[in-house]
Amino acid sequence: MSGTKLKSVLSSFSQVPGELKPLPSDRRSLDDSCVRLHTTENPFPMPEVVMQSAIAALEQQYLYPEHDNIGLREAAADAYDLTKDQVIAGNGSSELLGLIYRAFLAPGDSVAMLSPGFSFNRKLAMLQGAQILEFGCGQSDVLPVEELLSGPAEGAKFILLANPNNPTGTFVSVADIERLAAQSDRLIVLDEAYVDFAPDNGLRLIDHYPNILLLRTFSKSYAAAGIRIGFGFGHPEIIGRLRNIQNVFNMNVIGHAVGVSILAHRDAYEENHRHIKQERERVSVALSQLGFSVTPSHANFLLARVPAGQDGRWWQKALKRRKVLVAAFPESFLKKHIRVSIGTREQMDILLSEASEILGRPKQ
Ligand SMILES: *Cc1c(COP(=O)(O)O)cnc(C)c1O
Repeated sequence: MSGTKLKSVLSSFSQVPGELKPLPSDRRSLDDSCVRLHTTENPFPMPEVVMQSAIAALEQQYLYPEHDNIGLREAAADAYDLTKDQVIAGNGSSELLGLIYRAFLAPGDSVAMLSPGFSFNRKLAMLQGAQILEFGCGQSDVLPVEELLSGPAEGAKFILLANPNNPTGTFVSVADIERLAAQSDRLIVLDEAYVDFAPDNGLRLIDHYPNILLLRTFSKSYAAAGIRIGFGFGHPEIIGRLRNIQNVFNMNVIGHAVGVSILAHRDAYEENHRHIKQERERVSVALSQLGFSVTPSHANFLLARVPAGQDGRWWQKALKRRKVLVAAFPESFLKKHIRVSIGTREQMDILLSEASEILGRPKQ
């Protein structure tokens, strides 16, 4: 009986969310002893001074957080040499991605996205009744500017570029992005989630190109994925449209305090960024010696084609049995690849020795 009622309730809704695959129910079944290298987190402790700001913020638990994230936006504007009207703060940059899709797309519209890209975008487009037009740059560091200008981007409402890209770790030059921004009259959403591990960034384009909307997050390079702090930087008109449709109190008092404190102590993270870049090179060489083919990366992860004979999913399972978690992409053309985040030296040594054992070699 209740089954029939449920059916009739569900059938009265728009079909789109129903087309999404149900979420797996076992997400949290992973115990703490696993080495987590599947979600591009940065497993480093907060600097003491940042931790103290979080603890102090707990005393404001009975207050609503500051309106429109004003203090955090001002602090970010100061730190990145922008005005506060050029800044929006999000509960992670994925909240801001969601706002962008809702603000700028109607059913039937399309978005051009670098492929392979961050899969969350596909879900956002589907919810909006929009289409993703993927354009290939694959695992190369060259942005196909001309192809974009005359091809998919022509009809698209915006162009989505993650730079460095996820899951490849590749990085296109800021000069290429600038060329695209200069020649296109489309909005370019430049998702710089991993840019602190890269040689350059697009911040200097903001004041020159009103069609650039830059996204940053503190989840990766500032090791704060659990606190949820993201930013959008762009023209005040574009930023204003996003702020206008944002939930009130989208962030909480701890996110505000930690965000402001991280902005004031960015130098405390330099050692961490150095470590990740060095470890990225060391693990890249070691994986190559084991027969993996590693895409040169400018992020805090490596995309590696697995040795001949198996696919990425097989390796993901084999490593999981040994309590090492990595990402695989069974439904894409990256079937033969795994993505491995760069964590502590100890975590990376565990990955390398388990991979050697799987290959039947003595532990390193
Ligand atoms: C992780 C990630 C994000 C979003 O991170 P948040 O934790 O929501 O700030 C956005 N874009 C890319 C490409 C990412 O990999």
